[in-house]
Amino acid sequence: MGVRDDAEAIAPELVGLRRAIHREPEIGLDLPGTQRKVLAALDGLPLEISLGTALSSVTAVLRGEGVAPGGGVHGGDAKGPVVLLRGDMDALPVAERTGLDYASQIDGVMHACGHDLHTAMLAGAARLLAARRRELPGTVVFMFQPGEEGHAGARHMISEGVLDAAGQRPVAAYALHVASADWPAGVISTRPGPMLAAAEILAVTVHGHGGHGSEPHHAADPIPAACEMVTALQTLVTRRFDVFDPVVITVGSFHAGTTDNVIPDDATFLATVRSFSPAARDRLHSSAIALVEGIASGHGLTVSAEFRDGYPVTVNDEAETRFAARVAADLLGEDFSVAQLNPMTGAEDFSFVLEQVPGAFLMLGACPPGADPATAPNNHAADAVFDDSVLATGAALYAELALQRLGRS
Ligand SMILES: [Zn+2]
Ligand SMILES: [Zn+2]
Repeated sequence: MGVRDDAEAIAPELVGLRRAIHREPEIGLDLPGTQRKVLAALDGLPLEISLGTALSSVTAVLRGEGVAPGGGVHGGDAKGPVVLLRGDMDALPVAERTGLDYASQIDGVMHACGHDLHTAMLAGAARLLAARRRELPGTVVFMFQPGEEGHAGARHMISEGVLDAAGQRPVAAYALHVASADWPAGVISTRPGPMLAAAEILAVTVHGHGGHGSEPHHAADPIPAACEMVTALQTLVTRRFDVFDPVVITVGSFHAGTTDNVIPDDATFLATVRSFSPAARDRLHSSAIALVEGIASGHGLTVSAEFRDGYPVTVNDEAETRFAARVAADLLGEDFSVAQLNPMTGAEDFSFVLEQVPGAFLMLGACPPGADPATAPNNHAADAVFDDSVLATGAALYAELALQRLGRS
């Protein structure tokens, strides 16, 4: 039987695992219950398993016994190259409103980004590949990662050695991400080059000097200057950046003052800043800081402004992306592997892996039957629904990517 048939055969177990994880979502870097469920799902498989220390990650290594192509190169020792497959496991602080019978039982926490599916699909791929261990011409690293949603879990796992877990660096790394909207269920979408944005926080505090609202000339009012910065940042976007290498700046938090007739000492705001190239990101760093400093000094004020740790651009390797899209088309059918026109403005910490290993990040449509992908609630929405039917598809694709890539090296 092929990988796809084998995946369909274990689909009921994958649905069970996914729903168990969905019922008990966990947030951040510490996901002990999810980790336990993953370990139970992997139990009995011929894997070398190691657990994270700073986070509840699971790294599982499957060493194939097949001879790599050009066996002489590897001396016939059946060692071969390494491929890494990643699935993230964390949920979001969202109060679920799907009404599903397997909805979250934890107040205010929901798998609203579908990471419960990624976890189950990756565990399924481990099953499928372990069953093919004899002919597997290399090693597969399964990266079960906490803390994707803003906690840089991938960076923590890299610093704890996930890229060296097999004893040598992977030749390629792949990640799948489900979407509750935008694509019909089972459709793979990806593109070479920038796939997702870099995301950072710009934090600004304008320092003035408080006083009576009736006598602003005796104070140093930070509010008008901070307001000017908010609009000037939008001008910066349109006047200083190439329209074909876009950036997004959204001020999502702005705070100053306590009442109408008191000028406050400070005004603070936070912006999310998105970009798609290292050049644009570097330029943002210098130009946005220079802009707010210039406005502050023009008004006789000072300002503290900094970019806080974010995620870099997720850049898909050209060759690996072409390869992955071809594998998806062969496995699922030509209509189920589509070329994505534009990058997405979301961000991903798989970017940290792709900074070190060539690979590809692929979207997998999981829109439920009967819903219109154009209007269905999107990832992160409290009523987003991800369809279980794609679990076998995702597990099969993970497995097939590893099989084909190792077989090609
Ligand atoms: Zn998300
Ligand atoms: Zn996500």
